[in-house]
Amino acid sequence: MEQTIKSDKSSENSNILYTVAMRGLVAFPKMVMHFDVARDKSVAAIEKALKDNGKLFLIAQHEAYVDDPKASDLYKVGVVVDIKQVLKLPDNIMKVLVEGVYKANLIHLMDDGNALRAEVKRTPTYSRAKYDEVEAEALMRSVKDIFERYSSFFPKMPKELLTSVMTQDSPVKLYETVTFNCNLNYRDKQTLLEETNIINKLSVLFACLSSEVEILELENLINEQTKSSIDKGQKEYYLREQMRVIQEQLGEDEAEEAFAYINDIMDLKIDEKSKEKLLKEADKLAKLPPSSQEAFVIKNYLDTVLDLPWGKYTKAKLSLEKAEAVLEKDHYGLKKVKERILEFLAVHMLNPEIKGQIICLAGPPGIGKTSIAKSIAKAMGRKYARVSLGGVRDEADIRGHRKTYVGAMPGRIITALQQAGSANPLILFDEIDKLCSDIKGDPSSAMLEVLDSEQNNAFRDHFIEVPFDLSKAVFITTANNVSAIPAPLLDRMEVIELPSYTAEEKFHIAKEHLVPKQLKEHGLKASQLKIDDQAIHDIIQYYTKEAGVRTLERNIASLCRKSAKRIAAGDAKRITVKGKDLKELLGIYKYLPDLSSKKDQVGVVNGLAWTSVGGVLMPLEVLVMKGSGKIEVTGSLGDVMKESSKIAVSYVRSVAEKYGINPEFYKENDIHIHAPEGAVPKDGPSAGVTMTTALISALSGIPVRADVAMTGEITLHGKVLPIGGLREKTMAAYKADIKTVVIPEANKPDLEDIDDAVKNAIEFVSVENLTEVLDIALTK
Ligand code: ADP
Repeated sequence: MEQTIKSDKSSENSNILYTVAMRGLVAFPKMVMHFDVARDKSVAAIEKALKDNGKLFLIAQHEAYVDDPKASDLYKVGVVVDIKQVLKLPDNIMKVLVEGVYKANLIHLMDDGNALRAEVKRTPTYSRAKYDEVEAEALMRSVKDIFERYSSFFPKMPKELLTSVMTQDSPVKLYETVTFNCNLNYRDKQTLLEETNIINKLSVLFACLSSEVEILELENLINEQTKSSIDKGQKEYYLREQMRVIQEQLGEDEAEEAFAYINDIMDLKIDEKSKEKLLKEADKLAKLPPSSQEAFVIKNYLDTVLDLPWGKYTKAKLSLEKAEAVLEKDHYGLKKVKERILEFLAVHMLNPEIKGQIICLAGPPGIGKTSIAKSIAKAMGRKYARVSLGGVRDEADIRGHRKTYVGAMPGRIITALQQAGSANPLILFDEIDKLCSDIKGDPSSAMLEVLDSEQNNAFRDHFIEVPFDLSKAVFITTANNVSAIPAPLLDRMEVIELPSYTAEEKFHIAKEHLVPKQLKEHGLKASQLKIDDQAIHDIIQYYTKEAGVRTLERNIASLCRKSAKRIAAGDAKRITVKGKDLKELLGIYKYLPDLSSKKDQVGVVNGLAWTSVGGVLMPLEVLVMKGSGKIEVTGSLGDVMKESSKIAVSYVRSVAEKYGINPEFYKENDIHIHAPEGAVPKDGPSAGVTMTTALISALSGIPVRADVAMTGEITLHGKVLPIGGLREKTMAAYKADIKTVVIPEANKPDLEDIDDAVKNAIEFVSVENLTEVLDIALTK
């Protein structure tokens, strides 16, 4: 038998070779491959082939499961290979490395019970028939494309392979490189092997690869989906497992702290990304020596973050009647303000999701802005927190310092949330007009982000680092001076002006609110201390000079304190404070009635000014002396007032003759203009009419009526321009017993806002030019 084989060896056409039936594998000419064999017949065939000429015939089985294949179980086309290497493994398994030599048809299979042999006939791999080059080119492109997609599923595939495929311009080489390197189904491979026409080979290859890619894509999708569902379900398990591992590595005690944190973080109502970031910190902590500075920083950080009211919302319980009752109970008067606030609450009630409504309560200090904000919080059923912005000049005040700074802290917004203990509190930004900006950054831009409903759902504090949702919070701001609020901030707010109180209103506020409140705070019963009406009136008149009621409240508190001391010491059981007792209890009178002149005088005019404590009556004095034309201005007058004085002089020169004034007065005289109470700074253009009137009176010697007060800006030609703060100013005139107030014609509509008490007591004269003012004010 051996002879026969040997004798056949020389024959090119027909040959008898030891044969291995392949399960699920197909070899190709030129292809190097390795495979394992375990069946006795296969092992024997290889051993014998090695002893012979080292050549072997490989032919695939139709079905991989057939153990002892007959000819009918095998394909008809196989490949003759050279055995390159054989490795014997235990259990009679053999690893074989072969290289394909040529394609051959199976003519006849022989089985001697020991090994398989076959008579084979060489057959060409490729037919020599001509093919259409354009078609080949098109097919090559398709194959390259699909191969590129295929390779994307195998990140470990060598780059060179991809390059060599993509740059290949021979159809045969392309076919071979792709076929040898792709993991195709053995049936597909068999088809490719049997096919000889290169065009057909390429198109079969393309079809096989396409379906392979499709399967891979589907597989990927399924993987992703299962992975994400596992992610959700298993993440917690995984993290806890990780915890356990850390615990094992560290000592119990050291790790315990870190796990407490991890447990708390896991329970936090916070987005996944933030949770991961916090877990990372806890992880870091677990690996640090517990007494290290860094561990301390992380602990402080985690404590602060965990302490924040993540996802803690108070349930809004809003009813308009209740809101109205709360506002009414806590505050006297303020009718218009209460109405505006109820409107605001009504909108909130109808649309709780409404965003970007920010109220700015504007007005002088002590007028009740803070306490109204507290009442709104109460009415809305929200927690209350206050952030004072006065003098804040560093952005870090708002946003905090990075935690790596020594002594770093979160900013005021986060601190307020901590205080409030809820993620939907009402936050009061007090004195937003007092924000300053300098080189340390602009805090107002940070405030913009806080107040902007589009951005504040992910507010970032530098210290906290993970975003906090502020969008459910309600913001209220307060300001003394609306014009000092940075414009972009003001844009976002709805301003509600709180006017200053009349003495009458202050009296009611004191009697109905401040006295009971202070009694309670000092532990006194209403029966123990009485402050009679005259005493309250006198406190208002002689001990306070303010638009609001803060000093009034302080004085009442002082009375309570002193009385409490006497009662506690047993000196008295019941005390009644009367007007005449005040000097003894509160000291000498601090303020006398406004400095209005009670007598018609030359060169003295009652002006009306608007200051931070509300309106004041401000007499203006002008003195003319022989001199060289100097103008002196005193009494803390600002630049605008100084300019007004120059306008006044120019105007007076133009009308000098009409009032019997020497037109050369400005050359021969020095003029001194003064506003008493020199320590109080005053500025603004609204003293124009006052100054001019005083100047003309001083130069002409005509006295000015003492019961007239005035306000208004002037032009060089003597026109009277409108001014602001009319309500406050007229209040001051009313307090000073003024009978006539001259106002600019353009301010006439503002008269509507003025208190009835004031309107009844004062005659208002509206004017367009200075001549009209002088007609009223000068006694002749
Ligand atoms: P602001 O915030 O405007 O400076 P506050 O709200 O601190 O003023 O008010 C000072 C005090 O005056 C508070 O005790 C407040 O309750 C009281 N108060 C102010 N206005 C009224 C009012 N209309 N009715 C009752 N109390 C008032």
